[in-house]
Amino acid sequence: MKFVDEFRDAQLGRVLAGEILGVLEAGRHYKVMEVCGGHTHSIYKYGIDGLLPSNVELVHGPGCPVCVIPMGRVDDGIAVAMREGVIFTCFGDMLRVPGSRYTLLDAKARGADVRMVYSPLDALRIARENPGREVVFFAIGSETTAPSTALTLKRAKAEGVENFSCVCNHVTIVPPLRALLESPDLRLDGFIGPGHVCTVVGARPFEFIAADYRRPVVISGFEPVDVLQSILMVLRQLREGRCEVENQYRRVVAREGNLRALEVMAEVFELRAHFEWRGLGFISQSALALSDAYREFDAEKRFEVPGVRVADPKACQCGEVLKGVIKPWECKVFGTACTPEHAIGTCMVSPEGACAAYYNFGRLAREREAV
Ligand code: SF4
Repeated sequence: MKFVDEFRDAQLGRVLAGEILGVLEAGRHYKVMEVCGGHTHSIYKYGIDGLLPSNVELVHGPGCPVCVIPMGRVDDGIAVAMREGVIFTCFGDMLRVPGSRYTLLDAKARGADVRMVYSPLDALRIARENPGREVVFFAIGSETTAPSTALTLKRAKAEGVENFSCVCNHVTIVPPLRALLESPDLRLDGFIGPGHVCTVVGARPFEFIAADYRRPVVISGFEPVDVLQSILMVLRQLREGRCEVENQYRRVVAREGNLRALEVMAEVFELRAHFEWRGLGFISQSALALSDAYREFDAEKRFEVPGVRVADPKACQCGEVLKGVIKPWECKVFGTACTPEHAIGTCMVSPEGACAAYYNFGRLAREREAV
């Protein structure tokens, strides 16, 4: 297939849904986790869950980068943004993520110079244009976005841009998956692997899931036909008693990943000893900090940040949603006190968040589950 409409072909989707029915074992309930928020978005946008039989349950994973940012990190960002002379830059979704008292958008309304950017290179350009100001980039995302931050920092260093720094919140996806697999709360039969992350790290880092935990993994693309085919491939492995890492997204993902991107990341970043994930707690070696060679660009070193841990609001059940323990609509404040316009939790902010995807596209799925 060459064109995007072929990956959205409804007839092909129905054929795949029929093949899924053909590989299921009678009386068995299947739980398949889609790790990445991009897949969650596709599943609800295209009604993929509506094509599946009721004994195939999709469980949403912790792969939405905005959703996993804890309140304390938002507070740290706001503390930097409120400083005199600082221009604070971040991606658009981040502006609306609640901290313990307010959001970065509220900080902007209170006078902080907070600007939305589409790329860390935009933030670097702002630094060049404002040599008398400190320009800070609030970096979020997993291995998908970390290379662009790394390349921007390399460029800042090469150009000697001294008024640029970065609050590094980049996370790595494998440690939380291991934590989920160790969790007694959750029985998962297989995984839809995060296609975007794998374009950088390759398929190899996910091989432990098959080898150590005997669960199939299929690295998947993001179009509806991709996702349906990947679900079929997971279920077929279960039917045949196989546990392997298969690559449905071969048009993009290589087993070894993007070696040049990995090389730049290794130069600019090092693993943090531990990092707090929203709802999942502290996980060892699950995030990146700037390496010694790039320490001068570390905003956490350049400015004083509170660095305190803030508990989530009592009503918020993002942790359970991110672990796949509850469905978004089972949270007590879903769609009432918590909506995309007025989010209490992070999962309602980004379009990749499970609650936002469910809110925007999931009405039919909810009705189906209620029957
Ligand atoms: S509805 Fe809001 S508070 Fe509840 S889990 Fe979703 S984002 Fe979190």
